[in-house]
Parts: sequence; C-alpha cells; structure tokens
Amino acid sequence: MEFTDKQLIFAKYLLNRIGFSNDVLINQYLNKLEAVHGRIRNYKFSNSKCFDELLSEIDLKKRFYQIKKKNIQNINTVTATDLSNFHFCPVSYSIEKSFYIEYPTNEDKRISGKELHENLRLVDRIYPSEKITHPERTYPKEFTNPKIEKIKNCKLIFAGHKNENHYFNNPTKSWKGQPDYIFRDPNGDFFAVEEKFKYLHNFDFPIDKELYNYIERIKNTFYNNHIVQLLSYINYIKDYNIKYGVLLYWYYDIDIDIPFVHDARIKVIKSENDQLLTETYESLINFISKKEMEFNINTNLSKCAACVVNKYCIHKTQLFNIVKFPYNKYDLKLKRVIFPEELKNKEKLANKKL
Ligand code: SF4
Repeated sequence: MEFTDKQLIFAKYLLNRIGFSNDVLINQYLNKLEAVHGRIRNYKFSNSKCFDELLSEIDLKKRFYQIKKKNIQNINTVTATDLSNFHFCPVSYSIEKSFYIEYPTNEDKRISGKELHENLRLVDRIYPSEKITHPERTYPKEFTNPKIEKIKNCKLIFAGHKNENHYFNNPTKSWKGQPDYIFRDPNGDFFAVEEKFKYLHNFDFPIDKELYNYIERIKNTFYNNHIVQLLSYINYIKDYNIKYGVLLYWYYDIDIDIPFVHDARIKVIKSENDQLLTETYESLINFISKKEMEFNINTNLSKCAACVVNKYCIHKTQLFNIVKFPYNKYDLKLKRVIFPEELKNKEKLANKKL
C-alpha cells in the first residue's frame, strides 16, 4: 500500500464513518481502491482519486435522505441485464432498482466503454475505429483476429443497435432481453453474441513472463454474470432456435483521454449449461417477491472497489447478512466517529493536500 501514515489515518477515519469497523478489512479495501483508482502521474504514484471517491461517498451519505427513489412496484418483468446485475451482486441489483444513481463510481471508464460500444461494434464498424484512434499513435489501426472474422462472415439476423426498441419477450418467464447480435452460422444454426468493453492497461513495452501470464489470466477470465445474460438469450428467446452464444470481450486502454482497443477474446457458451441461469432466475424471482434475501457477507472487495454503485452500499462493510428490496437508504447514515487527534488542525487534509 502506498498511503502515507497520515493518509492512512484519514482514510480509516472516513471508512469508519461509512461503517467499516474492522481494521483488516479496511486495509484490504484500501488496497483494492488503490488498485482501481491509483495512477502514475509524472512518474509518481498518486492515490488522490481514492480520496476523491471516499469524500464523494461521505458527501452522498451525509445527504442520504435526498437520494431519489425509484418505484419498484412497476417491476413485472425480469430482463437479461437484471439477471446479469443480480448475479454480479444482489445488493447492486437492489440499489440500482431502488435509487436513481447520480454518483456512479468509475464513470469515466463506463462512459469510455459506452462510447466504444457506440462507435466500435462487431458489425458496421472497423475496429479499432479511425474516429477514436489518434493519427500519430503507433497502435495498429486495425488488428485481425481469425475467430472474430469467422463471426463477421456469418449471416447477421439481428443487431440490437439497429433495433433499439425491439426486445425479445418470453411471457412464460416474464422475461425480456435484447442481445447485441443474432447470427446464423454456415451450418444453419442461430447464435447470439454479447460484446463487452473491458478496461485493461496496454503494455506497449516488453513485459516479464510473470506479468504476461497475469494479463493473459485476466484476458481469459469470463464472468459468470455475463454468461448468465447470454444463457438467457439462448434459452428464453423463442423467436429463433438459438443453439449457442458467443461472449466477446474487447480490451481497451485510455491514452490522453482517447480510448483504444488493443485486444479481444471470445468464449463460446453452449445452451445445455443452463443450471447457472435457472438458479439465478429462481433466486431473483424469490428476491423480488419476498423483498429480502440472505447475503453472503464475505464479499469480494475487488468487486466492491470497482462497483458502479459502491457509494450507495453499506453491505461492503461485511456487517449485514440480509439485503432488502427496495434498498433501505436509512442504513446509509454516517456513523459518529471522533476526528483523529493526529490530524487535528490539519484542515488541509480535508482539502486533499496530503
Ligand atoms: S459495493 Fe460490493 S456489496 Fe456493495 S453492491 Fe457493489 S459489489 Fe455488492
């Protein structure tokens, strides 16, 4: 951890106010925050963004009563995205359905991913797009990947971005969803494709074996929540007999505010692996009807540090083993904690001049 002693005291104070009470957990969470928000600036490591995030969470929780609620009474369908969000974390599902999220975490990466999704699709665009690559950069303007070429050569049946208002419905399951694409392969089989844009630093210098293996492990890890989403297209869309799905991850980095793609990986998902989908679907339906469920408090803090709704969450403190639907905003109230003696008269800290 790169925090100075004073930074550490201040960060712990903020996390105590948020509700963390266990020092081991606090250290783990700070490590994860640093991994997500730490930056090298002018050849020096800076964790000021970690404090921006913590102070913004404190600010939001000071005004928890102003958080705008959504009406969950209107929920009468489950979408493919709901299944994905719920599998990612039931708390995040509850928060996103309960509140208007005005202070999302990792907004810059979310926007870059969205822009890339709008500009750099599997079909209709070259990849990486000329529009979003810098003319003076040495990154390949277009890289080839035989597996992706194979998909592009199949017959396109449906493209979500061309039919934004078209959702496939399954009334038996009260489900609806819109895959990014449906293709037909040369054997005549239909398959669905879901593409995701994932931020990953591009090492444009020779990297050692250990780091290379680590990056390869990351690139070949496909998340179960995305697999659940794809499985729901395969099993619940009845308009086409979808035989299998393809999960496509584009890996991108951001250089001087310009996102660029540097790699891509795919995973083929077979229709018969539907146990994961059945369990997730049933658990979500139960949660919506019973309005609460048990929550495994051993949350993955790496996931929490990067989670889009983490400022609205109290469950990352690992103190709550029940999650409610809708989420209870009164639980977000800050704890009373005495300001550390060591930092008194150092108001500069509050201005992040640490
Ligand atoms: S911060 Fe962690 S526990 Fe909270 S919603 Fe996000 S992933 Fe779930």
